[in-house]
Amino acid sequence: MPDDVLTSKLAGFGTTIFAEMSALATETGAINLGQGFPDTDGPQAVLDAAIDAIRAGVNQYPPGLGDADLRTAIAEHQRRWYGIELDPATQVVVTAGATEALAGAMLGMLDAGDEVIVFEPMYDSYQACLALAAAIPVPVLLSPDADGVYGFDAADVRDAVTDRTKLVLLNTPHNPTGKVFTRAELDAIAAVAIEHDLIVVTDEVYEHLVFDNAEHVPMATLPGMFERTLTISSGGKTFHTTGWKIGWMMGPTELVTAARMAKQYLTYVNGAPFQPATAVGLRLPDSYFNQLVADLQIARDRLVDGLRAAGFVTHSPEASYFATIDIRSAQPDGDGMAFCRSLPVTAGVVAVPTEVFYMHPEHGRHLVRFACCKQLDVIDAAVERLVASFGVATTGSGAS
Ligand code: PMP
Ligand code: GLN
Repeated sequence: MPDDVLTSKLAGFGTTIFAEMSALATETGAINLGQGFPDTDGPQAVLDAAIDAIRAGVNQYPPGLGDADLRTAIAEHQRRWYGIELDPATQVVVTAGATEALAGAMLGMLDAGDEVIVFEPMYDSYQACLALAAAIPVPVLLSPDADGVYGFDAADVRDAVTDRTKLVLLNTPHNPTGKVFTRAELDAIAAVAIEHDLIVVTDEVYEHLVFDNAEHVPMATLPGMFERTLTISSGGKTFHTTGWKIGWMMGPTELVTAARMAKQYLTYVNGAPFQPATAVGLRLPDSYFNQLVADLQIARDRLVDGLRAAGFVTHSPEASYFATIDIRSAQPDGDGMAFCRSLPVTAGVVAVPTEVFYMHPEHGRHLVRFACCKQLDVIDAAVERLVASFGVATTGSGAS
């Protein structure tokens, strides 16, 4: 057997942090606030629809584009929430989670050496998909201001463009920072995309998990952007069904078709009975979506307050599942990876080191991400452990 079994494209990637940390949670019995998945089931109507579909024999390959009624429900959802018009026959494709849509988009649109503007930190699959496509990520740094609000310098986006730039890969609301890109920020990105004729691929899986007064603005709604934007989302976060892996990609036919060309050779199709069930979810009344975010906001506040009580400077997210702490009050060397590897044993809690989301890990080395999409008593139990381990010993102001 050759020594170099693994493709050089994946050299340096290793096992995903989610697999590593969730395995550590199982091994140690620690409370898992690492991987972002809810620990309660979603709406009964959605679960029942999947069970009914299995009983009704929806157990074979769905159509290549995805279940026709789900594609219609996705188009309805985009019109209802954002006023976006899509033809479900040609402009919507169902995928194996947002993850496969991202992979399909990168593999279907990029040639070796093409450059892609990304914002770091970024969700871990982005760098791997770009590597598989032999494309080159060009990072723009998201960094917190004095109030802890993440932003970027618009000049950095302009400076990132070269004659090899083909695409901007965006994620709003954002994992891991919980940032919601403002309309002004999106305008700045859109202006660069239009000026340089770039495609924008936008990952909006946290679209319904936006707190307080923040507003999710889909890139495709900006003037001149629909025709160059591929939008990706999924049902996992919105319906507490992360294990179903039903995602979708939408936009102008040319972009959807290019991404589908790759997607069709990845899984071809997936999750037949979960597709009609996800359509039921997308058609739930506004009250469902409002309650979803209201409940999550209570959990966010409980976690953020708890992390501050444990002495950590804590970043409260505007959206998504994730709060971030600066560990330096407890671990002055700021080694978040070491902190997370020992936390299950020292405190009985699992978290994720934010450095894995950076191309330049030094920017996030001292940061650690905790998920709030858990039952309140689970969050309370984790906080109690963290306070017991760190609360007395640390001197952090708790402000952010
Ligand atoms: N994008 C982001 C920003 C995510 O946080 C996640 C993971 N939850 C995904 C994509 C993957 O979504 P899915 O589970 O639908 O593949
Ligand atoms: N998106 C979730 C997170 O960031 C889960 C990712 C995964 O398990 N691959 O935690």
